[in-house]
Amino acid sequence: MANKYLDSWDEFEKHKNGGKGHEVVEFGSQASHYAGKGGKSGKSDTYSTKADSFGRCYHKHPALKLPGTELVIHGGSCLSPIVKDADVYVGFDHGMSFSQKSWPWKKGTEFLFEIQDMSVPKDPDEFKKLVSWTRKQLEAGLKVHCGCIGGHGRTGTFFAALVADFGEPDAITYARKNYCQKAVESTSQVNFLHEHFGVKKVDGYKTGASYAASTKSSGSSSKSVATTPNKAEVESFTAMAGHGNIWEPRPA
Ligand SMILES: [Zn+2]
Repeated sequence: MANKYLDSWDEFEKHKNGGKGHEVVEFGSQASHYAGKGGKSGKSDTYSTKADSFGRCYHKHPALKLPGTELVIHGGSCLSPIVKDADVYVGFDHGMSFSQKSWPWKKGTEFLFEIQDMSVPKDPDEFKKLVSWTRKQLEAGLKVHCGCIGGHGRTGTFFAALVADFGEPDAITYARKNYCQKAVESTSQVNFLHEHFGVKKVDGYKTGASYAASTKSSGSSSKSVATTPNKAEVESFTAMAGHGNIWEPRPA
């Protein structure tokens, strides 16, 4: 019952390696861990080890509880979602894995809302629609997973916008405390949240003191990260691609 959508993920896993050829964290052999427990077991050794080798922590992300409610939203990698039984999957990276959930005979929704890594949505209005639409899904009792690659920059930006929509202006701090300390990576993401959602400004994780401290020991200079605005300025945005349009796609 709790794993009513697991069949589609199993199907997806079987064909994954012959498909797009993206580098993804493997979890197929551990799929049974997720059956019936809402995907919170965190017992997948293969999954954890591989994720750790990239210095990623999305497999440890708690569901983010939204302020003033009992509602939660899951976040991590859209290449390898940590919950396998969500009703809705939102991906921000073009590498998103699709489970064919949104086919008419598979209940559920999944779609790509592409945002360039370290960057912000090109169309704030579309992003605001995504925030309010997602809020409605949560309030309707649906389970939602959002992901990019590491679940920090783009997913963190979306989560902070959602948190602000629920009435918490210090939304980045809230997301870092209740979801992951690496949430919201770049200055452009912080500024975007401030401008469009009234979110209180703090340092971007990869431009702030915490990142400088965390990279110091590995010998890489935080300055090189802070002074690479070109990547963040290059924005790529696809309003609605892939399966499962949830509102009218913009004309090409
Ligand atoms: Zn994290």
